Amino acid sequence: MAIDVARAAVRLVHEPFLNTPWESGADESGAESLQPALDAARMALRSGAEQVCLVSLESREQMPAWQSEVHEAEHEGIVVDNGWGPKEIVGRDGVVTGLKVRRCVSVFDEKGRFNPAFSDEEKVIPCDNVVLAIGQQADLSFLGGHAEVQATPRGILKIDDDLMTTAPGVFAGGDVAFGPRVLVEAVANGHRAARSIHVYLSGKTKKTVLSRFRIFENWEMPRGFLGIPRQTMPVLPANRRIGIAEVELGFDEAQGRAEGLRCLKCQVNTIFDGSKCILCAGCVDVCPENCLRLVDLAQVQGDGRYDALIRNRYGVSAAELPVGQAGAIIKNEEKCIRCGLCAQRCPTHAITMEALEQQEREVFE
Ligand SMILES: Cc1cc2nc3c(=O)[nH]c(=O)nc-3n(C[C@H](O)[C@H](O)[C@H](O)COP(=O)(O)OP(=O)(O)OC[C@H]3O[C@@H](n4cnc5c(N)ncnc54)[C@H](O)[C@@H]3O)c2cc1C
Ligand code: SF4
Ligand code: SF4
Repeated sequence: MAIDVARAAVRLVHEPFLNTPWESGADESGAESLQPALDAARMALRSGAEQVCLVSLESREQMPAWQSEVHEAEHEGIVVDNGWGPKEIVGRDGVVTGLKVRRCVSVFDEKGRFNPAFSDEEKVIPCDNVVLAIGQQADLSFLGGHAEVQATPRGILKIDDDLMTTAPGVFAGGDVAFGPRVLVEAVANGHRAARSIHVYLSGKTKKTVLSRFRIFENWEMPRGFLGIPRQTMPVLPANRRIGIAEVELGFDEAQGRAEGLRCLKCQVNTIFDGSKCILCAGCVDVCPENCLRLVDLAQVQGDGRYDALIRNRYGVSAAELPVGQAGAIIKNEEKCIRCGLCAQRCPTHAITMEALEQQEREVFE
């Protein structure tokens, strides 16, 4: 029996823009989670569905979705039913009457691969529409007859570093060339492809003028920045979420500034100049995160590059270094909060706070 009711989440999310109203059905069951499933469920509700249930394989904690969005969806009235996988669309006389689901006992196998396992427990969720949100893939059927534009085994277009496909003069970017990602990356690909097309058509060459290390004098982080809480996004009241109204209203200036102060400034790093270091251990003492250690080089083991470094500096191999004759500062990068205290403390300016600024300026010659 054919049941013509399943829709794809992507289509449902776009339908309001195409002025296609939601059918008069009462319930809707979305399979899987992730953002598109949440988008589709919330859009179904806005488009007139009386009741929406979102089914997810994962437990609440495992759901690959922003918890804040799950919270907002529930706030709007969507029922999130965790730990179930779709088994069958149930119908009568060609019309859907429910979604049969079975209990998902685990989503990933012992190697961490997506490999859902199910128990015998089953139930039918009554509904008259089912929206599938179980992933998406590029539709490359339009390439029929153009074998020179090749695809990869993943079902995306094969491209080189300049975003040119295997067909000279044909360029591709965005999801069709990289798989599902985020919008800003597709836009960036558009810029990149435009530059590549310019080079291709004009015969000019492209030179990327890269980066420099920027040294920050007197670097310090905002006082108490680690304790600043995440700002709560103001949202539209649930009863005003109709049509395509945006739910998240954006921060006001004070909130925006507070949120900005939470930035960990990961681009800034401590750079050590070993030739200036007098091994006073001042940086070790001052570091609030205990990420620096002063160690005897005789205790350090390294690879061939380390050996070459030691030989270059001390004229002997690492193994020949006498105990107590040479030291090094070892840093645990993962713990560093970029507070800059070590650089401030260092009496010989052996530590600087620097950022690699990558200016991808391209010059066509
Ligand atoms: C439900 C959902 C929610 C998402 N939410 C977010 C989000 O919150 N933030 C975010 O950053 N990203 C989000 N994304 C991802 C983002 O939308 C995509 O990464 C982005 O749109 C990819 O852009 P693109 O130009 O590569 O492809 P698309 O935006 O898919 O554009 C491809 C275009 O090509 C057209 N087309 C297809 N075939 C043909 C053909 N044969 N001839 C002519 N035209 C054709 C299509 O109609 C489409 O307009 C979401 C995606 C989905 C599905
Ligand atoms: S920047 Fe701060 S946290 Fe990082 S090593 Fe220096 S003192 Fe420690
Ligand atoms: S404070 Fe400066 S000189 Fe002293 S151990 Fe640290 S890096 Fe070396």
